[in-house]
Amino acid sequence: MKILLNQVSHTYDVEILHQLNLSLNGYKSVAIIGVSGSGKSTLIRLLSGLESPSSGLIKVNDMHVSDEYYRRRIGFVFQNHNLFPHLTLKENITLVLEKTRNMSRVDAQQTATHYLKMLHLDDQIDKLPKNVSGGQAQRASIARALSINPDLIFLDEPTSSLDPILTHEVLTAIEELKGLGKDFIFVTHVMSFVKDFADYVIFMDKGDIIEMGSPEILDYPKSDALKAFMQKVR
Ligand code: ADP
Ligand code: MG
Repeated sequence: MKILLNQVSHTYDVEILHQLNLSLNGYKSVAIIGVSGSGKSTLIRLLSGLESPSSGLIKVNDMHVSDEYYRRRIGFVFQNHNLFPHLTLKENITLVLEKTRNMSRVDAQQTATHYLKMLHLDDQIDKLPKNVSGGQAQRASIARALSINPDLIFLDEPTSSLDPILTHEVLTAIEELKGLGKDFIFVTHVMSFVKDFADYVIFMDKGDIIEMGSPEILDYPKSDALKAFMQKVR
């Protein structure tokens, strides 16, 4: 994928992101790391076009992220699963495909089942979110993101509400998606997953990009901020 940030700033009540610049080309899986409050979620929301920056230019794959075509070619997985509570896992996906992709009910159900199986949820398909584990619900929301066949998938701390066992289960399922040929931009605190899955890492601190490069920067941090961060997450 290609990512371009040109002087990107974002302000809520105060400025959160400070004139970020970035130009990447050819990476498949980009991790954004940093302590809480450093601006990771804000940046990933801007990159996905969920929000517009206060100033500056953002392009992904040569498209403005506000572009309607771009918005239809991406998927987003949030910290919490975001499934409709009154719908089964399968209905959650079927509804999206019918409403936003004009799919027939039969096709939508077939697609939903296909992706739920890919995420190893074969026997959970007809359950409500409250009747499956947090890890299963999160895998269902990954299946939902995949079901629209996006080119690029965003994940913002997809395992932050899960215990270590369920975290491992979800991250393993994400790693299995590598063969699909899709691109990923994700935020996580699980550094072993960053090392396994990312081919590029962006380290943020206080709204700035402090270091970036191959996952090796985690083993050989240059800045004091990344050194301190790596002490904390180990
Ligand atoms: P991270 O994901 O790294 O924890 P965030 O991007 O969520 O960081 O937040 C960065 C800063 O922006 C934090 O200080 C947070 O309180 C603030 N912030 C995030 N979202 C909003 C919002 N919608 N309104 C006001 N402040 C926000
Ligand atoms: Mg966040």
